[in-house]
Amino acid sequence: MINEKMFELGSKRSAIRDLFEYAKERGAQIGAENVFDFSIGNPSVPAPDCVKEAILDLVAHGDPVALHGYTSAQGDPQVRAAMAAHLSGHCATQIGAEDMYMTCGAAASLTISLGALVCPGDQVIVFAPFFPEYRVFIEAAGAECVVIPPREPELAPDLEALRAALNDNTKAVILNSPNNPSGVVYSEETIRALCGILRQAQEEFSHPIYLISDEPYRELVYDGAQVPCVLDFYDNTLICYSFSKSLSLPGERIGYIAVSPRAADNRRIYAAVCGAGRALGYVCAPSLMQQVAARCVGKTADISVYRRNRDRLCAALKEYGYSFARPDGAFYLFVKALEPDASAFCERAKRHELLLVPSDSFGCPGYVRIACCVRPDMIERALPAFRALAQEYGVIE
Ligand code: PLP
Repeated sequence: MINEKMFELGSKRSAIRDLFEYAKERGAQIGAENVFDFSIGNPSVPAPDCVKEAILDLVAHGDPVALHGYTSAQGDPQVRAAMAAHLSGHCATQIGAEDMYMTCGAAASLTISLGALVCPGDQVIVFAPFFPEYRVFIEAAGAECVVIPPREPELAPDLEALRAALNDNTKAVILNSPNNPSGVVYSEETIRALCGILRQAQEEFSHPIYLISDEPYRELVYDGAQVPCVLDFYDNTLICYSFSKSLSLPGERIGYIAVSPRAADNRRIYAAVCGAGRALGYVCAPSLMQQVAARCVGKTADISVYRRNRDRLCAALKEYGYSFARPDGAFYLFVKALEPDASAFCERAKRHELLLVPSDSFGCPGYVRIACCVRPDMIERALPAFRALAQEYGVIE
């Protein structure tokens, strides 16, 4: 007898991974340049030079035993101090090395945070549209995933629905801004209002309700959009961060958790984070990458490419009659499918070699996600296919 739930998870790929694999197979059949793969959020922009420089310098001049050895379970103290100093520069709240836990990317940050907080019978609230792995992580931690549908068309969190969903079993709320899959950046006003509602609920139910702020796209914002520091607005906050997108290092698996120094029971939460890391086997994040992250924290890959991709796609898709909320951040477009069934729409798009992700697993039916972190030349080659698809649905002539 094996764990059937895990068997199910491992046997069925996510819609995103499914398309990503299909793109490779299809590319082998008809040539990769003829497949328009908008499925996965894999940055197409190389890591900034500082990453290569740091790796070369560390490998050439670092102590090889220490460099490739175990660090402290929660991460090298100096690396954690560097992360804390950088985060403190972004926030009014001052964070210490003792609040930081280095992880293997945002996925590990989330699973550790949930593992640290969740008890049997708890609920964790997510705002649709949401990163589909949230449901997997929440359920694996033993909690129920409660989905709040968005306010449309702007795809902002529905705060009245949040108020109604909070109850004695609510342990945490996951917030993700800039958002995957919509690219929407939540305003400071929204964050303040949301935090006010959570504070009221904490009083009403007489227990902490944690805000888990998942921020792998924090630096990926355009046209002056601001990402407020959630630590400044709500005490019981854990930040889950990753260098996967900002430094274009998704394969290197490096990120962190910051536990708010203002959280009630901050030391107990931090110890539970260490405990969850231990229980999940997520101790001692990749040692070389911890050092690289410490040297490159605050730098980004050339994200102007994503802005230009967004602008090009938004202009063309608007012209072809598609509707969407123009994203201020991340590198996704969340577009209304041209028929109610997003999966059926994606199947038709596939006939034009356009690989788009149907939105059902994002908790928001009727849309498709288009990852704009692709190479600009692929966008140019794909535009006739987007146009032909719109023509097929009679949206344009
Ligand atoms: N959270 C969100 C919103 C994401 O989009 C992703 C990856 O795409 C992750 C978490 C996981 O990030 P990582 O690759 O750093 O584990």
